[in-house]
Amino acid sequence: MREFGYQRAHDVTGAVTLLAAGPDARYLGGGTNLVDLMKAGVERPALLVDVRELPLDRVEPTADGGLRIGATVTNSDLAVHPEVRRRYPALTQALLAGASGQLRNMATVGGNLLQRTRCGYFTDVSQPCNKRAPGSGCPAVAGEHHNHAVLGASDHCVAVHPSDMGVALTAFDAVVSYESADGPGEAPITDFYLPVGDTPHRETALPPGALITHVTLPAAPVAARSRYRKVRERASYAFAIGSVAAALTIEDGRVREARLALGAVASRPWRARAAEAVLAGAPADGAAFAAAADAELAAARPLPRNGYKVTLMRNLVVSVLTELAGEDAR
Ligand SMILES: Cc1cc2nc3c(=O)[nH]c(=O)nc-3n(C[C@H](O)[C@H](O)[C@H](O)COP(=O)(O)OP(=O)(O)OC[C@H]3O[C@@H](n4cnc5c(N)ncnc54)[C@H](O)[C@@H]3O)c2cc1C
Ligand code: SF4
Repeated sequence: MREFGYQRAHDVTGAVTLLAAGPDARYLGGGTNLVDLMKAGVERPALLVDVRELPLDRVEPTADGGLRIGATVTNSDLAVHPEVRRRYPALTQALLAGASGQLRNMATVGGNLLQRTRCGYFTDVSQPCNKRAPGSGCPAVAGEHHNHAVLGASDHCVAVHPSDMGVALTAFDAVVSYESADGPGEAPITDFYLPVGDTPHRETALPPGALITHVTLPAAPVAARSRYRKVRERASYAFAIGSVAAALTIEDGRVREARLALGAVASRPWRARAAEAVLAGAPADGAAFAAAADAELAAARPLPRNGYKVTLMRNLVVSVLTELAGEDAR
């Protein structure tokens, strides 16, 4: 492991200045992803700027009925926050489905959004990988890809984004705010993650050296009846092979509003807008839920060993929506 410096930042401007000053500097949140990647030689920072003492550890209501979540709030604290549980239960469920209690106690909101893919070629520096070493190739396309992308991928990279939290935030139109050397900025989470295209090493719209300061969840009454369901190869302590964050409001037997996002199917949490369009105004029944899933998954381009994901996601979408519709009827 390369020797590195360590500095603790106490204010946002100081953190951004420190990062800009040091070549190869990285922010350090809980370190649960970054430090692992440093041990594997994937990340080789010269300086770590610890952000955990920044005053960004609050979850606060916004004037319009949403929530503002500081970037250093831990995954554990966010999961149990009473307003998150009440207004966005799928977010609580997504957080609690991730990692383990110990990891969630360390992991931060900013770090969770920026965690890197778990593709085995990415974390093995003896292998080529376009994301880690642009232009070196993507061995996963012809190799091990059973948990890789079926939507929105390219020949250059077929990795999936591993965050559970990000899927729920995507369903609820979260906005990511940051501070950079050029001032503050923000991006809706659906634009925050870049399409993979031929630049898989460029993952987000964050300017170089920018610090995520907070995430804002707009008011979303539909989210009060929401669910996150994750399928994984073990019952706990495992990344998703498919997941769904869904919310549904039903009026007179028809869908008034639906939110749907899919996880572990693409390089970013996948907002299922084609499915939402089919659901809008449709009867709240199994046929409409299946039609919605089919509309979204029509764009799926599975690889030889991950076609199971298309069936898995279809069943998952139908099952979660059916469950939510049943709750609405009670
Ligand atoms: C065994 C194991 C199992 C796991 N299982 C799951 C799972 O099932 N589901 C899931 O979603 N996740 C899972 N994780 C991943 C875990 O959720 C992430 O490692 C964690 O959320 C990252 O947060 P962190 O604060 O530790 O980030 P760090 O490791 O500190 O940082 C990650 C990246 O974010 C950058 N960064 C951190 N904070 C900021 C900021 N404020 N602004 C800009 N950049 C920043 C860092 O520079 C780094 O590049 C697992 C991890 C492990 C080790
Ligand atoms: S899928 Fe992406 S991360 Fe995995 S080897 Fe290919 S380029 Fe690298």
